Amino acid sequence: MTAPAVPGTPDTSAPTRLAGVSGVRLAGETVDITFDGPVVGAVRPHDPATTDTTDTTDTSASMLDLRGYSVLPATADPHAHLDKSRSWDLVNPPVGDLPGAVDAWSSASARFSQDDILTRARGTALSMLAAGTTAVRSHVDVYSDAVPGTGADAFRGIRAVHRLRRELEGMMTLQIVALIPASTPDALITDLVAGALEAGADLVGGAPHLAADPLAQTDALVDAAEAHAVGCDLHIDEFTDLTRAQTIHRYAERVTGWPGSLDRAAGHCCRLSGMTAAELDTTAVELRAAHMPVIALPATNLYLQASDSRGIAPLSILRRNGVRVAAGGDNIADPFNPTGRADALETAALLVTAAHQTPDQALDLVTSHARAVMGLPPAGPTPGARAELLCVRTTGTSAASLIAAAPSDRVVISAGRLVARTTSTTTYPHLRPSA
Ligand SMILES: [Zn+2]
Repeated sequence: MTAPAVPGTPDTSAPTRLAGVSGVRLAGETVDITFDGPVVGAVRPHDPATTDTTDTTDTSASMLDLRGYSVLPATADPHAHLDKSRSWDLVNPPVGDLPGAVDAWSSASARFSQDDILTRARGTALSMLAAGTTAVRSHVDVYSDAVPGTGADAFRGIRAVHRLRRELEGMMTLQIVALIPASTPDALITDLVAGALEAGADLVGGAPHLAADPLAQTDALVDAAEAHAVGCDLHIDEFTDLTRAQTIHRYAERVTGWPGSLDRAAGHCCRLSGMTAAELDTTAVELRAAHMPVIALPATNLYLQASDSRGIAPLSILRRNGVRVAAGGDNIADPFNPTGRADALETAALLVTAAHQTPDQALDLVTSHARAVMGLPPAGPTPGARAELLCVRTTGTSAASLIAAAPSDRVVISAGRLVARTTSTTTYPHLRPSA
């Protein structure tokens, strides 16, 4: 079935295949980058003759003139909630903590139809694409309390995001994690996962720290992933209370020895921020053995947890201990985080100011590292890499200046195609230059 035309929906019938981009700044040089289909062919010093013959309109197979722009790899978001996004005003939740957000969302979400979810998810995904994000892993709620006989569909969120994935094919890689509610009886999880996979999910998800028996549910979720031979990406220990039972050790133990073809990831991991150095060393050894990446989610955890402690996974220590790390945007304008611009450079800024990453590390966490934990091939302005590029109009080229300015003028390229372009205009009508 063809999706109805919606204002702002990209026209998938006419993707613009580019020969490359010219005159763009990269690491202090001005270069021309040619594409070989969906991958980068060559990166050469800029040849002005190339620009002189460039067709500056976006016609098919042309070199796109991007003088005045800097290029970086397109960003990726390994942990989003497209189905929840943009619901803050609809839910009108109390400003709160995680249990309050879960309650507000649960009672309001029963009334959202598949089409409602698709409309909000599409709006957020297109904002992310315009900001430069060409790969998103979205956790999507499964509604295990869909009342039989009412026509409510437990998998309407997954079906909505699966429809969105088809709309955005060729522009954005969209992975779907079936977020199994923590209230689900463990014995029902494998069957519920079967329905979710059939509806379009790729991976098993959940938040077992919210279950009555967190360890038993961790086991049940991993059992379900193994039964269906798919990967697992769980919300892990999204709390900072040092007295609560942790699930991270059991999760790592259960996936240790999994074949490399099966994805696994741990999101949030707020409890790690309260561990002693010795506990963290031991945990890092377990995570490394399990090939388990940790995905930090600063925006949501600063909002939900920071009244007690900061709640951001300790990225520098994990990295020093050989654990793979990445970062994502998580919630956008929903009960779990009322703000968020769908811009990975906003996540990068939070990583610098709240998680004490260097600007270069922060950019890596939302570009190359994010793609790696999603199991995607490398992307960026390097020969042989996927031609997924974010070009921003800016005078500064350092990581710090890019994150600080977060320029609104952006050109986004996915698989060698121009997929989004934003151009803004500012005027200062009363400004007079001094003599
Ligand atoms: Zn999440």
